[in-house]
Amino acid sequence: MSVATAELVDYDDVIAAYEPVMGMEVHVELSTATKMFCGCANRFGAEPNTLVCPVCLGLPGSLPVLNEAAVESAIRIGLALNCDIAPWGRFARKNYFYPDQPKNYQISQYDEPIAINGYLDVPLDDGTTWRVEIERAHMEEDTGKLTHLGSDTGRIAGATTSLADYNRAGVPLIEIVTKPIEGTGARAPEIARAYVTALRDLLRGLGVSDVRMDQGSMRCDSNLSLKPIGAGEFGTRTETKNVNSLKSVEVAVRYEMRRQAAVLNSGGTVTQETRHFHEDGYTSPGRSKETAQDYRYFPEPDLEPVAPSAELVERLRQTIPELPWLARKRIQQDWGISDEVMRDLVNAGAVELVAATVSHGASSEAARAWWGNFLVQKANESEIELEALPITPAQVAAVVKLVDEGKLSNKLARQVVEGVLAGEGEPEQVMTDRGLALVRDDSVIQAAVDEALAANPDVAEKIRGGKVQAAGAIVGAVMKATKGSADAARVRELVLAACGQAG
Ligand SMILES: [Zn+2]
Repeated sequence: MSVATAELVDYDDVIAAYEPVMGMEVHVELSTATKMFCGCANRFGAEPNTLVCPVCLGLPGSLPVLNEAAVESAIRIGLALNCDIAPWGRFARKNYFYPDQPKNYQISQYDEPIAINGYLDVPLDDGTTWRVEIERAHMEEDTGKLTHLGSDTGRIAGATTSLADYNRAGVPLIEIVTKPIEGTGARAPEIARAYVTALRDLLRGLGVSDVRMDQGSMRCDSNLSLKPIGAGEFGTRTETKNVNSLKSVEVAVRYEMRRQAAVLNSGGTVTQETRHFHEDGYTSPGRSKETAQDYRYFPEPDLEPVAPSAELVERLRQTIPELPWLARKRIQQDWGISDEVMRDLVNAGAVELVAATVSHGASSEAARAWWGNFLVQKANESEIELEALPITPAQVAAVVKLVDEGKLSNKLARQVVEGVLAGEGEPEQVMTDRGLALVRDDSVIQAAVDEALAANPDVAEKIRGGKVQAAGAIVGAVMKATKGSADAARVRELVLAACGQAG
């Protein structure tokens, strides 16, 4: 049930009376080859319950083994967020009984997280940055996925059947928790969205996760409370769960601000609870929030403590790339393009691909044209991400080189790229196999020109008489005869020369 708009306080009135305090908790699935504590593949979209083993099913006697790659990713995330990396820490068991977790506990980090006390300087639309302080980033395992059937909402209430898929159980997860975000005033929803956007871009840049909010590999819970302006203490907070798009982050924060203000204005108290976000823009109450005591945390006895050496941490620190938005700013200046063009490239997921193509020798103009137009179209047609297209920046650069060398026209180059996408091999190979190379041999073109003139004596006569614009028809006939592999400008020169109109 949605709260009627009349029960929400106008946004401006919320800001006039209250200061919002936010806290963001973001869960990120790591894109490691295998799960956190077993050798099962970590892959999205497989048939239910095909990526499972005794460890992730919690069968008696099975023992977890820690995934080293996941720990390295966790440390890199901590370093990128300017955190201190704990030299020693244990995993903990978070005990709860629910069928999404077949062990009846989740292995997590409780009071000894791998990374603490960091910050992220978040770029805002107006060109300024907002520092969000990070409290901690810790490792844990994901739960299985429950699907509830028979209810209108897809939730468990009213469902007649529930299905459990444990492919996701045990997938490595990092939870990143901010400190309270205060002092944002009216900009709270914007800053919430900007933070999650920056975090997504940062994690993508690190290559530790595919950060797909639509597929659940990045999930955001937003905590919000209001305190009357001038009050010292925080108000009671609610936690809105699983806000699954960047836009929804902004909408959910704004909605909770307006709803809580209505509760407070009417003399009520905000209930501490989790709330569900609905895609049409409101939240509804979920369960009342558990406290840590409810989970009976205790140290996980089946795993050794995590004790990364200073050398390892330093080695990983060297792998942290430039912040993606700073890199973009630098690249934009290098390429000399407008904010608008840059935004299109960013939205298309093309910036890194263009940069890699340039590093293989293509001009930035040509690289941008391929990735930003033709290839983005191909990706859309196949409904896949641009970077998932079966063509590499090196191959695109090779095509650009063939065009620059005059071996391919732009039109023929597109056919070469299509051949590469179809798995026909490297660009040069496709060009040869498909017979697409431009005919550079004048004698071949001359023969086609002579033939076309002989076949069109009326046109030939007009050109000889000085009507050079009539040459277009002969050029067209030659291009057709050579299947587009002649250079049209050269054909025109030869046509005019043959008719005594050269120079
Ligand atoms: Zn397993």
